[in-house]
Amino acid sequence: RTKLGLAKSSPVSNKSPGHDDLNSPFISQSGVGVGIESTISNTPLVLIKSLSEHTGCTILGKCEFLNGAGNSPKDRVALSIINKAEAEGLLTPHSGDTIYEGTVGSTGISLATLARARGYKAHILMPSDQATEKSDLLVKLGAIVERVTPAPIVDQMHFVNRARNLAKDHTANPQKPGRGLFADQFETDANWRAHYEGTAPEIHEQTDGKIDAFVAGAGTGGTISGCAKYFKEKLGANVQVVLADPQGSGLYNKVKHGVMFHGLEREGTRRRQQVDTVVEGIGLTRSTRNFEIGSDHIDDAIKITDGQARKMARWLCEKDGIFVGSSSSVNCYAAVKTALQLGPGHTVVTILCDSGMRHLSKFWKQVGDVDGEEDMTFEDLMK
Ligand code: PMP
Repeated sequence: RTKLGLAKSSPVSNKSPGHDDLNSPFISQSGVGVGIESTISNTPLVLIKSLSEHTGCTILGKCEFLNGAGNSPKDRVALSIINKAEAEGLLTPHSGDTIYEGTVGSTGISLATLARARGYKAHILMPSDQATEKSDLLVKLGAIVERVTPAPIVDQMHFVNRARNLAKDHTANPQKPGRGLFADQFETDANWRAHYEGTAPEIHEQTDGKIDAFVAGAGTGGTISGCAKYFKEKLGANVQVVLADPQGSGLYNKVKHGVMFHGLEREGTRRRQQVDTVVEGIGLTRSTRNFEIGSDHIDDAIKITDGQARKMARWLCEKDGIFVGSSSSVNCYAAVKTALQLGPGHTVVTILCDSGMRHLSKFWKQVGDVDGEEDMTFEDLMK
């Protein structure tokens, strides 16, 4: 037994250890959580001071990068997917079961971390145009990582199709231990539900329901759909839901005009990048079940260029000491535009998805060093 009174080796059972199994005198008395899972959710909501001062609005950022397993909102989703699969008997800890997923990185990192904590293997398929720190991290976490050339969704080599096929092959192969589970973040209800049951109610409670707008990008659509559905059910037309879409994505046109046109290459042609932007994690050139679930609740969309995202990343670091990645920068730029449209006195909530540390080799390389540069004015930022 360790100092905390926990059994040294985790019990091998077909049930993940819960409070009852561990029998620690500290648990439930002193705020000691059980395992890394206990650091997921209940993230802080912070006032972004510089943006609030310049717009006259209250601009709030939900610090999803403080989820403690994989450090992004995807911790909520990965935990929801694994819990559901365990409840349905599709995953059994320490049985050789392997979780397969196609991901631009964040979901893979959350799944690989929780796979370690729960006794599974992780096999992650990633497009090759994403920042290398994410695949390096996945390797350190013990996941099998394949970087796949970006391809259209109709191609069997598309990272999502490849993950689905590998999971199926694993389960069908008697030589392989355990089963293969395709996590399926784009289509599974476990994704948007994690935000409907977690992220959104937390924001509602943290603001006493005083929200005029919610702004977020969509990678699978789980965050915006789960939150949009919850806020519209609670607050009706009093809350505006706004999609923050990076350049190269087709979702802006879907929200604005009801068509999925992205002005980029057509399906069936090889493309160099999944979506033509330096931004990672948001933007789609197809719709998904997780986007469709909430799309009727999305009131407006704002397109953000890579240049605007870079400026916002620099601004947040320079003025507020908030060091975030590219999707958070897109979210914040769209939050400011929404605040300026609404006018002073309104409250706008957005998501701070992940840290700039995940983006040093790609996005932040383009942003450059903040120190030593001229002070950026708000007019420069919004130009
Ligand atoms: N930001 C980052 C860094 C992400 O990886 C993702 C998911 N790919 C998102 C935002 C978007 O979240 P969602 O999948 O819920 O739309």
